[in-house]
Amino acid sequence: MKIDLHVHSTASDGTDSPAELVACAQAAGLDAIALADHDTHRGLSEAQAAGERLGLAVLSAFELSAHARVAESGETWPVHVLGYGCQPDDPALATELVLIRQGRANRIPAILAQLQAAGFPVTLAEVEAQAGDAQVIGRPHVADAMVARGYVADRDEAFALYLRDGGPVLSSRYTPEAADAIDLIRQAGGVPVLAHPWARGGRAWMPPERIRELAEEHGLQGLEADHLGHDDEARAGLRVLADRLGLLATGSSDYHGTGKRDNPLGAYTTDPAVYAELLRRCAIA
Ligand code: AMP
Ligand code: MN
Ligand code: MN
Ligand code: MN
Repeated sequence: MKIDLHVHSTASDGTDSPAELVACAQAAGLDAIALADHDTHRGLSEAQAAGERLGLAVLSAFELSAHARVAESGETWPVHVLGYGCQPDDPALATELVLIRQGRANRIPAILAQLQAAGFPVTLAEVEAQAGDAQVIGRPHVADAMVARGYVADRDEAFALYLRDGGPVLSSRYTPEAADAIDLIRQAGGVPVLAHPWARGGRAWMPPERIRELAEEHGLQGLEADHLGHDDEARAGLRVLADRLGLLATGSSDYHGTGKRDNPLGAYTTDPAVYAELLRRCAIA
């Protein structure tokens, strides 16, 4: 059984519609996926209907935008928390998702002002056109508008030159602290798993000691160990840590369609026994 627990659709910053994504997952030989769009469940019903037609399990998930904070400096860094099998109508979760999505939309004009000042004008209408019917707008849609203008070749180049975290274009927005995000997912009956915790320098912000606190004091349930953003050492280190803390170790592709060409479906998968245990812990599965 092949299981990919982290994939994106056009409901956020993927490029396949939820139904297309499920068809691609089947063609890639997967038996189960978790639709983990950023900060929304919007694509789930379409994906699950397609899954029923094609005989592929589609688990409810999302990838919640959060942050880690360094107490001494007050500096923050993005942290992503996967929330599996939450009650979809949980009021606190729904309220928080709205706040996060508003924060995403509100920051776009500030990003565009900086690009304009750097000599790369892009209009809000162009970014919105790239986002299409996504419920969640993000930097990848800004990147797509830059590609359409011919400023950069692809999303990767837009991020490398301008949009990356800590890069020249500042793009702060509202996110909850990681511990609060985990609490919220737990209160909604879901299973919180840290997404790619040590990708892009994340280890400095999420050291083993902090992960232990999140597990022991907030009920973090798992670590996404096998992810293309981790080198072999990070993957092995996260597995050892998961083992030591009694956490589930998952693996997934973080597929975004053509938005991330290096992340094919099933690039990494999750052990069937780990998937079964994850399902057992979910409020809805
Ligand atoms: P945002 O959702 O606006 O915070 O933007 C973050 C999203 O941009 C991530 O979910 C990735 O899909 C994408 N992303 C981040 N860094 C890169 C990168 N270096 N190259 C391509 N895409 C990236
Ligand atoms: Mn993304
Ligand atoms: Mn992520
Ligand atoms: Mn993701």
